[in-house]
Amino acid sequence: TSRIPEKWVKTTCGYCSVGCGMLLGVKDNKAVAVRGNPDHPVNRGKLCPKGLSEHHILESPGRAKQPLLRKNGVLTPVSWDEALDTMVERLRDIQSRYGNESLGVVGTGQLLTEEFYTLGKLVQLGFRTRNHDGNTTLCMASAVSGYKLSFGSDGPPGSYADMEQADLILLIGANIADNHPILCHRVDRSPGTKPRKLIVVDPRVTKTAMMADLHLAIKPRGDIALINGIAHILIREGLIDRDYIALHTNGFEEFAAYVATFTPAHVASITGLTEAQITETALLYGRAKAAFIGWTMGVNHSTQGAVTVTAINNLALITGNIGRTGAAPFSITGQCNAMGTRESGFTSSLPGYRKFDNPQDREDLAHIWNIPVDRIPTARGLAYPDIIEAAVQGRVKALWFIATNPAVSFPNYKLVEQALQSVEFLVVQDGFHPTPTSDFAHLVLPAAIWGEKEGTYTNSERRVSKANPAVRPPGEARPDFDIFLDLAEKLGVRQELYPNWHTPHDAYQEWQRVSAGRMCDYSKFSWQQIDEANGIQWGGESLYRDGIFPTPDGRAKLHLVPCDPFIEQPDAEYDFILNTGRTVEHWHTRTKTAEVELLNDMVPNAWLEINPYDATRLELKPHDRVTVHSRRGAVADLELRITGIVAPGQVFMPFHFAETNSNIVTLGSFDPISREPNFKQCAVRIERT
Ligand code: SF4
Repeated sequence: TSRIPEKWVKTTCGYCSVGCGMLLGVKDNKAVAVRGNPDHPVNRGKLCPKGLSEHHILESPGRAKQPLLRKNGVLTPVSWDEALDTMVERLRDIQSRYGNESLGVVGTGQLLTEEFYTLGKLVQLGFRTRNHDGNTTLCMASAVSGYKLSFGSDGPPGSYADMEQADLILLIGANIADNHPILCHRVDRSPGTKPRKLIVVDPRVTKTAMMADLHLAIKPRGDIALINGIAHILIREGLIDRDYIALHTNGFEEFAAYVATFTPAHVASITGLTEAQITETALLYGRAKAAFIGWTMGVNHSTQGAVTVTAINNLALITGNIGRTGAAPFSITGQCNAMGTRESGFTSSLPGYRKFDNPQDREDLAHIWNIPVDRIPTARGLAYPDIIEAAVQGRVKALWFIATNPAVSFPNYKLVEQALQSVEFLVVQDGFHPTPTSDFAHLVLPAAIWGEKEGTYTNSERRVSKANPAVRPPGEARPDFDIFLDLAEKLGVRQELYPNWHTPHDAYQEWQRVSAGRMCDYSKFSWQQIDEANGIQWGGESLYRDGIFPTPDGRAKLHLVPCDPFIEQPDAEYDFILNTGRTVEHWHTRTKTAEVELLNDMVPNAWLEINPYDATRLELKPHDRVTVHSRRGAVADLELRITGIVAPGQVFMPFHFAETNSNIVTLGSFDPISREPNFKQCAVRIERT
């Protein structure tokens, strides 16, 4: 038939951080099919529903196809030259009137590493604003901060293979069956696989929880007490590795004294678990020869996200469950290139996990870039939430969003709406238009997407894989890399910042020099080698095999982590705790998956889950249409699902849907260390619509 591909292009999935290898079938410059790459070590030929239908996004009607400039209030097609000339002129004018830091830029973990690296230089050294961050602050910043606090550096210490080799897998706030479906195969415990236990800590009975040997239906924000309580039992029972602690950690005596108060009875009173469940979990963890802890947004999306990560790291450190096969504290990342962007970014760190406040790190970069060292900032600028707040307060006057959709993804919609409306100039660069964010834009730049451009993604386990172009972008859409270089040209910094660069490969080669000798060392492998090997992990399967950490004395730090109640507790008026999350069918704010008929038909709308006890109390019936109210707004017309998946007093809704935007009701509170939002808990009231 006409849909039989003429060729198959090897590439990597552009959705999530699992990083599945795939083959994209092409006929007549159209992507007509996708199949899993059977030789790829991550997915071994399998793909989830999003990956299997990914080719449909390339020609979807929602693609942005031409630059649009707002003229007399209307977004009007213009040439690329006019678009980029206007952008540079407007941003320069605003910066000349209000200072360089009146510009805020937010990129994304959807960009290729080569693009994000190029963007960082353009923003920080070209536009000379430090206010540059990634949308990864909405998902992974707490893991980054927690790793830095415990180990002295970012970098997930383990690998997917550890999940198959562990005796115990402890998943905390990680519904991988929906959110990392292909990774979920690694917890397969069918006959023939290594016998091992799975414990899932989650307030909901998620699909992943249903797979567990032990599901701990913990009260929201009970995780820190549970983790401290496990540490208490491990120490009490002598299930710790005293040699590892003595050789490789600091702070054990204070830590042991601190967790002594987290008795099973005390932890049970905070978490809603039984003492027997807490003890069984600790004993299974402590007696495992190799224990693996994985986590995602249930941990990160919290005002205590960063310190919760350090609490998890504590468990691994006191039992020596790090730096060896099957044993790791492992943050499962969100976006396809969240890792590559946090390694190469010029956002919360300097490229190559360098630090702004380290003179030698700045000298190194100035030398490679052949610029005066004082061009490199000595401190990071505003993080994403602080850029939004500064825009609301009038300190940031221009915003540039790249492949991200804050009008749906940012907490407390009213705040972000105010920011988008109040800036003098808003640029939205995206593969799709209109989106709820691009509707506010003064300038829309149409970008190429996955399948149309070349570079690398790095997945959760630090595996660098190649993404290859298979088709041309639609209309006048262009790769983000080309847009950045053209902007540099118009700014007059192209030759200085990107000497003789023409393709993303030029960016990769400089990135190899920048990362050489660093923990995330890309100098060891070329694009060709990555492609041929179906991805290469920097750092090998486990980091810290020698027990030496990148801290001044080479030791990891044990942290004392208090368990604070979450900020907005339910009360008489708002009597439920709202939890938000994802579905296997959709991706983030559905700019892509809403364009895929198959996925959209499977899950066309959001819903609200409520426990039967509460439904009876409120006289609600299955399929009633309900409204969720919080102190910030209301989301109407949600289909009610009455289910024991959620506990009494709690409700759940998926966050993907602009039409029923959960972020109208969520709380705009952020982790003071990582700046990650507290998406997971806020107080709401439920009424029939
Ligand atoms: Fe793509 Fe993630 Fe699905 Fe793999 S699991 S096919 S990387 S969306």
